[in-house]
Amino acid sequence: MAETIAERLLAVRQGIEQAAAQAGRDPAGIRLVAVSKTKPAAEIREAVAAGQFDFGENYGQELRDKMAGVSDPRVRWHFIGQLQTNKVKYLVGQVALIHSADSAKLIREIGKRAAGLNLVQDILLEVNLGGEESKSGVAEDEVGGLIEAALTQPAVRVRGLMTMPPYFPEAEPSRPFYRRLCELRDREQARLGGRVNLSDLSMGLSHDYPVAIAEGATLLRVGTAIFGAR
Ligand SMILES: *Cc1c(COP(=O)(O)O)cnc(C)c1O
Repeated sequence: MAETIAERLLAVRQGIEQAAAQAGRDPAGIRLVAVSKTKPAAEIREAVAAGQFDFGENYGQELRDKMAGVSDPRVRWHFIGQLQTNKVKYLVGQVALIHSADSAKLIREIGKRAAGLNLVQDILLEVNLGGEESKSGVAEDEVGGLIEAALTQPAVRVRGLMTMPPYFPEAEPSRPFYRRLCELRDREQARLGGRVNLSDLSMGLSHDYPVAIAEGATLLRVGTAIFGAR
């Protein structure tokens, strides 16, 4: 692995370019979210200096500490962790995108907080495709109902779907999950038509992002390959 954060970022960006070219996709439609959980603000600032502006965090308190330590206005924060109703108030209006909305109750709370701040909060719905008990996310057959629940909230905008597949050390076993997320999105988009714009698919980690790109990812959540092991 390359030595510095800047070098690792460059390697990941080259990997994205290469996978996009192979898939016949425009790399401009793929955004790299650098997952900085457990890493100090100084390392995030190092990544910012190397031109990285999207960061993903999993924990509310840690996110708030990092926001205070990284005050660059170009930075966009993404919340990718397990969402709790009582923590929603710390996220709404602070993060560009919540990737992990997975219940009607959470969506109502996001809608209430966003309306109170007079803004619209962008969210993704996290889908649990592996059926793993330990993972958050809504079951595939409940996604349609959840999108409709979000459509009743004027201060919530659903931008698409997110998934975290079961972990395998190789990339290829992730493919069927990423393909299913894309197909699910296509079905829901066709069903709901102009009522919604599900353009984003948040999928792909350090070890499998080229596969995710091949299957249509628009947001990659890459931690280890940029910041090193946690
Ligand atoms: C930690 C985490 C990632 C990053 O995983 P890496 O294997 O370090 O790239 C992506 N998504 C979620 C939801 C995470 O919790």
